[in-house]
Amino acid sequence: MTDTLNTISEELIASIRTIPDYPKEGILFRDITTLLSDPRAFRRAVDALVQPWAGSKIEQVAGIEARGFILGGAVAHQLSAGFLPVRKKGKLPFKTIEQEYELEYGTDTIEIHCDAVKPGEKVILVDDLIATGGTAEAAVKLLRSAGADIVAACFIVDLPELQGRAKLEALDVPVRTLVEFPGH
Ligand code: AMP
Repeated sequence: MTDTLNTISEELIASIRTIPDYPKEGILFRDITTLLSDPRAFRRAVDALVQPWAGSKIEQVAGIEARGFILGGAVAHQLSAGFLPVRKKGKLPFKTIEQEYELEYGTDTIEIHCDAVKPGEKVILVDDLIATGGTAEAAVKLLRSAGADIVAACFIVDLPELQGRAKLEALDVPVRTLVEFPGH
């Protein structure tokens, strides 16, 4: 990590609120609404997320519902790219393709519109946080099945104990994260 990114990381860590035992006991919820409401932290986070790809030709930014929409929209604007919503099942109005993935108990399904990606389009995936990596892994598989060339996946927060990064790297997806927090 560079010194600049270290300084930015300290600022970002200070702007993220931690809520213990939400949504259930034992989880430390890393709440980025406090980062979003801090103009300087929000700008710095978006700038740092896109910095490696500034000037390269990214066609679409895919954001994972719901916090990935806020960040992904800002990242897309910054890169002059389009925005592509990856949504929970049943929310998109047109014809969709879907991908199921495992949760701690049971499964969940994400969807994109069937025409959301053109074959070979360069896509960056964005969400606020990577934990187990299950959601992002499903999004990568879904986007690739539609023909996307996934250039990278970017998150503000990494929870390294849950090893989500390795899941994406195993799929040959470069991962960019800005800050790390211990625990779940
Ligand atoms: P995962 O699929 O396990 O990587 O979970 C990632 C998704 O769950 C992201 O959309 C996060 O916003 C959310 N998430 C998981 N764990 C946390 C946490 N400790 N704090 C805040 N959000 C979380």
